[in-house]
Amino acid sequence: MNAGTRSPIVGIDLGTTFSLIAVLEQGVPRLLPNAVGEFLTPSAVSMGDDGTLLVGAAAAARATTHPERTALAFKRDMGTERKLRLGDGGLELSPQELSAMVLAALKRDAEAALGVPVVEAVVTVPAYFDDVQRQATRAAAEIAGLKVERIVNEPTAAAIAYGLHHRDRELRAVVLDLGGGTFDVTVLEIMEGVIEIQSSAGDSRLGGGDFSAALAEWAAARREQAREPDLRSDRQGWARVLQAAEEAKRRLSEVETTRIVAPQVPVRGGARLDLDLPVTREQAEEAWAGLQERLRAPILRALGDAGLAPHQVDEVLLVGGATRMPCVVRLAAQIFGRLPLRSLPPDEAVAMGAAIQAALKEGDASVEDLVVTDVAPFTLGIETAVPFGRQFMNGAFAPILERGTVIPASRVQQFSTLADGQEAIRIAVYQGEHSLCRDNRRIGQYQVRVPRGPAGEQSVDVRFTYDLNGILEVETTVRSTGKVALLVLEQTPGRMSPKDVERARRAMAKLKFHPREALPNATALARGEALYLELTGSRRDELGYVLARFRAALDGQEATAIDACRLQVLQLVDALRRG
Ligand code: ADP
Ligand code: MG
Repeated sequence: MNAGTRSPIVGIDLGTTFSLIAVLEQGVPRLLPNAVGEFLTPSAVSMGDDGTLLVGAAAAARATTHPERTALAFKRDMGTERKLRLGDGGLELSPQELSAMVLAALKRDAEAALGVPVVEAVVTVPAYFDDVQRQATRAAAEIAGLKVERIVNEPTAAAIAYGLHHRDRELRAVVLDLGGGTFDVTVLEIMEGVIEIQSSAGDSRLGGGDFSAALAEWAAARREQAREPDLRSDRQGWARVLQAAEEAKRRLSEVETTRIVAPQVPVRGGARLDLDLPVTREQAEEAWAGLQERLRAPILRALGDAGLAPHQVDEVLLVGGATRMPCVVRLAAQIFGRLPLRSLPPDEAVAMGAAIQAALKEGDASVEDLVVTDVAPFTLGIETAVPFGRQFMNGAFAPILERGTVIPASRVQQFSTLADGQEAIRIAVYQGEHSLCRDNRRIGQYQVRVPRGPAGEQSVDVRFTYDLNGILEVETTVRSTGKVALLVLEQTPGRMSPKDVERARRAMAKLKFHPREALPNATALARGEALYLELTGSRRDELGYVLARFRAALDGQEATAIDACRLQVLQLVDALRRG
């Protein structure tokens, strides 16, 4: 146990499905448990029956019973104006605010585990996140009372966790990250402690959840063949089957055969069905054939973009919980002709890397020889015109600082007037990878005055300086006059100002959260109630009895009685779920 007086910088993996928080202790990453004793905190927020907000495991347990009161997968909407409504009380929350709630819960968990306040953090984001999404993540952390020391790309963090930057030769690595709902492929080049992103590709609609769904479909088709009512005919019932398939899928990563078990599944017409279906790994993999095939395309695309053949890759890293599936390991081995690295728990590697990066930031002696630089996650440039016959076509994108450039970096390019007598040059700054500006994101613009003259006579040097905090400085120098103008772009669109952050922070402080120490009880209750809804007959009565005793104990506020009853609920839920 480390309860030193110094507050460490923590590393946070803010995931679509699960989030984690970790610190480096004596050179080793240590994951910190949440209020219910688990390392993986579901990225979920739910409005409880009493109007308090639940974050994490308790919220995730309510996703099937209270879908309209529960928000999931909000990371997908980071950086957009979308709002999610929780319940009918009219509480509308942005992806930023919801993420802030998850981050605040992680912060409290870390404080409870370490016994010191936690303020500074390194937070990871997908490599493809653009500036707006990164700023939204940073703002979420600030709303949660965290100061973001650094935003790090998830694949970079994974490579650090595996110590790839320590190898004393240049190497190329591919990170395959299959999470709950996303698949990200990143090609990295690692040289003298510098980790550069060469290319990234992915499928934002392909993840472990799809494998569970495919297995549930397989079960439904089986039962249909047996001339039984359709398992898909009732929404609640189908949610149960999906959960049973999820559990079976996880077991199949370890064993060759298992059963998909869901007692008393409601189906159309008020009937109930006992689902208990044996399934082999082979059968499951047949059902996943289409999904496995879909994993191939992004891998080949990322390799193609980096100009690499599979055999030129030195290491393949598997991260994301869904890479525990043997078929994914096999696919990776087949494509690359080598065994992938998977010695670290795949859902924990990113958080571990973030913790190491945090310690580095802190100047921790145990990581002093580690040099990691960041790279620009996207291309930055300005709008220009290109000659087209006797005319000029506006709207072409002229990159100045290319994606993948090691930052901090400074790049300069010269631009000239296009028309006779032109008095000003417009500098419109864009970020993105498309050749036309309209497909990229505009992040600022201004005008530079130039002396009149014939076309092409006057020119301007445009210098882009990009730092590790994602702040871009655009400096222009008019060649003929030496006049310098500076534009600092930290106020990109969608980015929250310190005032906005303060306002969001105050708004969050007004919301009522379920107290952290009561979360184990809330989680057990939510898990029990979720199951109670689905059962009938004696099993329902049995669970109802245990739940009633638990509620009575909670009312009585006697700690030992509460603990005993909670344990009883959890044990019974576990037993009933197994059928
Ligand atoms: P995120 O999407 O937040 O990055 P994770 O990397 O934690 O999430 O991945 C979550 C996914 O991993 C879920 O779809 C889950 O079903 C899957 N998963 C976790 N453990 C296993 C396992 N043992 N076998 C197969 N899939 C698993
Ligand atoms: Mg992840």
